[in-house]
Amino acid sequence: MGRGFVPEDLEATSWDSLEPLINDLLERELSCSSCLEGLIADSSELAEHVSEAGALLYIGMTCDTESEEKKGAFLDFVSNVRPKLSEHSDAINRRLVEHPAVEDLPERYDLMLKGIRTDVEIFRKENIPLGVRQTELVTESQAINGAMTVEFDGEERTFSQMSGYLEANDRSLREAAWTAMASRRMEDHERMSEIFDELVSIRHEMAQNAGFDSYTEFMFKAMHRFDYTVDDCLEFHESVESVCMPILAQINRERSELLGVGELRPWDVNEKGGSGPDVHGRDPLRPFETVDEMVAKLSELFHEISKDLGGMFDKLVEMDTLDLETRKGKAPGGYQYYLEKSRVPFIFMNAAGLQGDLETMIHEAGHAFHSLYCGHLELIDERDYPIEFAEVASMSMELLTQPWWDKFYDSEEADRARRTHLEGVVFLLPWIATIDSFQHWVYANPGHSREERAEVWLSIRDRFGSAMDWTGHGDFREVSWQQQGHLYGAPFYYIEYGIAQLGSLQLWKTQMADPQKALDDYANAMSLGNTRSLPELFSAADLKLGFDEGHFQSLMDTVESSLSELPA
Ligand SMILES: [Zn+2]
Repeated sequence: MGRGFVPEDLEATSWDSLEPLINDLLERELSCSSCLEGLIADSSELAEHVSEAGALLYIGMTCDTESEEKKGAFLDFVSNVRPKLSEHSDAINRRLVEHPAVEDLPERYDLMLKGIRTDVEIFRKENIPLGVRQTELVTESQAINGAMTVEFDGEERTFSQMSGYLEANDRSLREAAWTAMASRRMEDHERMSEIFDELVSIRHEMAQNAGFDSYTEFMFKAMHRFDYTVDDCLEFHESVESVCMPILAQINRERSELLGVGELRPWDVNEKGGSGPDVHGRDPLRPFETVDEMVAKLSELFHEISKDLGGMFDKLVEMDTLDLETRKGKAPGGYQYYLEKSRVPFIFMNAAGLQGDLETMIHEAGHAFHSLYCGHLELIDERDYPIEFAEVASMSMELLTQPWWDKFYDSEEADRARRTHLEGVVFLLPWIATIDSFQHWVYANPGHSREERAEVWLSIRDRFGSAMDWTGHGDFREVSWQQQGHLYGAPFYYIEYGIAQLGSLQLWKTQMADPQKALDDYANAMSLGNTRSLPELFSAADLKLGFDEGHFQSLMDTVESSLSELPA
């Protein structure tokens, strides 16, 4: 598939193999705009190889966090190869944007050049070693989390396995499970705080090196957030507070009444996603027993929705790039990683048979569909869709598949699953506002003390959290932000989920009126990859991009009315 600039069997994890190709890009004569196009295409081909090599190392490590060898290979790549690459790609970027013929390039390159000019603007050589240190710290935080297990119910269990107990009807069992996990986290909270302190200080330094007052401004540029501002994020928080919080409080009131527990405690409702025990004491939802069963049923489900989605899902299975089952030593969470050279999506998750796992798998499948829809685009940059829209691809799949969830359930259970998921939407938006406002504060106040951080975190949780009784667990609550891996590994990456949720809810509304239009809008927009700006991608799917209260209200009205149609 390549242009032939890069040998098919290039050892892209080795600097010795990369260097001659980089030198070619740095030194070749560029006499015309078509030479510039050649430079772009060859750089893209090389970037595909490097991206895939890095992806495979990352995948290897997260699938096996106990292997020193895999960790060593990944760290060697990020500390020895990537820094040199970023320095040289800055030089190649400069050759491009400073070349007089850049003005003659066709419109196709406009958006890409806007991004490259921004990258050039913020690049500083002295930030490279800081970036390496940052990666080491993030990797350490992930290893700490990956190693967290507890002895519970006679066995050593991962946190993913433990989350099943948090849906148990026996309140004392839930309390024991929750407390076991919180205590386990508290064993490492000191080191997790130290890591975070150092990350904040490194990040602030990187921003200052690049001439910015704050890491926030630096990151808005680095993340190519061209179409929304800090003020828009603040408006998002306010809309969440006025529109979502009353609904969240109402859901919690109903729960505490139906459960007959008085004030809710942390083991009665999950802070992030709103999950918890069934309010009528029914057994927890268990959509599948084995991963194979989940995959087989999802294949049927996607085929029933459309030929397109069914075909793409089967492709994922055939390509054998799924690692879905939870086991000790696997990093927590789930992700989709697109292998840019092979043009194959890889899906990672920790399935333990819960409704949440089914939602995660559907979510990651949505990312994979996005990658496959735009896989025909030639340049890596054209396929590198913005995160805000990536999450529309994934989050809308969660909503669009809802009508087919009875594949996994009888009709009563399917309604329960839908209710759980929609309540999850109500809980997730405030959690997004929580994490986002926390980060805005952290990086606006890089010299803060741990006490101040705890105080601010608690006040943000008061604004966006469930009212509940934390007696006996105040210490854990103060550092409970440590559970959110994005704060370590992907700073400022979180509001994207909120922006995308608003898009997804609109696609879901479209589906209610015209299912085929929703699928067409989805395919149209996803096929564009990164060749349009965020507002244009939203328009391509016939969606509004906005954060105002009225917009929130109209979407949450739909959520509320759907909830009211489902049995309590
Ligand atoms: Zn996602």
